[in-house]
Formats: sequence, structure tokens, C-alpha cells
Amino acid sequence: MRIKRQRRQSRRSRSSFGVGVKLKYLTKSPNQTKKMGEILAKEILKTKQQESAFVLGLEGDLGGGKTTFLQGFARGLGIKEKILSPTFIIMRKFRMGPKRSLGGWRAGWSPIRQPADQFLNLYHIDCYRIKKTKEILELGFKEVISQPPNIIAIEWADRIRKILPKYILILKFKFIKKNKREIIVQYKND
Ligand code: ADP
Ligand code: MG
Repeated sequence: MRIKRQRRQSRRSRSSFGVGVKLKYLTKSPNQTKKMGEILAKEILKTKQQESAFVLGLEGDLGGGKTTFLQGFARGLGIKEKILSPTFIIMRKFRMGPKRSLGGWRAGWSPIRQPADQFLNLYHIDCYRIKKTKEILELGFKEVISQPPNIIAIEWADRIRKILPKYILILKFKFIKKNKREIIVQYKND
């Protein structure tokens, strides 16, 4: 990935989504941000199935690149439909494409487990317009985040902090200048 990683703020854990690991990136175009989303999606597809959904919280500036990032993220999951900034729709479900084979071998010569059926759905949730946490709960949020085949990407996740799961990958988007965005990635468990 040519996206510049500014600095490593804490020691990398052995797991690719190690709790407490905080990484800072700088992207210089919307395409770079999409590419970063695509790479992250492919990394998530390699992970083992957990007891609940994989949840991603996107926070930070309006126009910071959250939706742009998710467009690349969806592409990485094999989704052909375009991710949009929903005007009235708060939650949208996308079925992942069948062609998600990662192929080849992982470093260390262990064969890659075919992740094809591990994750099935991407839920895109945008909390920008919600006034109360309850609005999200009424859409069946608890059920959706409890199901292992789901990947949930929540824009403005900080607005529903009270109901977020314990384990969550947080991405913070900061507007630097016209085409530059800072993206901080952190895996949390609190
Ligand atoms: P958000 O969902 O965080 O409100 P969007 O992704 O909808 O933000 O909008 C980001 C806007 O900024 C888009 O118009 C995009 O083309 C533009 N942009 C410019 N540079 C970047 C960059 N490096 N990363 C992401 N978006 C960028
Ligand atoms: Mg958005």
C-alpha cells in the first residue's frame, strides 16, 4: 500500500487487529482512501469467525471521507452496488458477492482458509440524522450486531456510543486540506 503511514503510536500486537493498536494514515486523494477501505475489507475477510458481527465505527469530520472509505470497503467485500450517503435511509443491507477468494498462500506457508461463507452481509448504518439511540435499536441493531456473518460499518458511531459492542474497530477521519485526510485506526475493547 502506498498510503503513507505517519507513525506507529504503540507496539503492533501479533494479531492484525490487536486491541489498543493505533495506526495513523494520511491519504492524498479519494481513491487512496477507497483503496485503504478495500485493503481493510480483504484483511477482515481473512479473520476467523467470532461470536458476533465484525463492527467498524467511522467517526470524525463531515466530508472527512467516511462514505468514500466505505465505497472501497464494499468493493473489497465483492459488493457491486454503490455505497451512498443515505439521505433518509439509516441502515442498508448489502449482500456480499460470491467471488471473494483470496487465493494463494499466506506468509508462513499456511494455506488461506477460503472465507467465502464466513461473512455474508454488509450493513451500512449512518447515524448522522438520528436524534436518539432508540431509532437505531428499533431497526433491529442488537440482532444485526449479534450475528457472526455480518460486517457492520457505522458512520457517526460516536452518536450511538452507548449501544456499541465492546469489540469495535474505530476509524477517525480528519479533514487536513482539500485532498488530504488523516485516518486513525484503532481496535477497542471498552
Ligand atoms: P463523510 O462520509 O465523512 O462525510 P464523504 O466520503 O461523503 O465524507 O466525503 C468526502 C469528500 O471529500 C468527497 O467528496 C471526496 O471526493 C473528497 N475527498 C477529497 N480528498 C479525499 C481523501 N483523501 N479521502 C477521502 N475523500 C476525499
Ligand atoms: Mg458519510
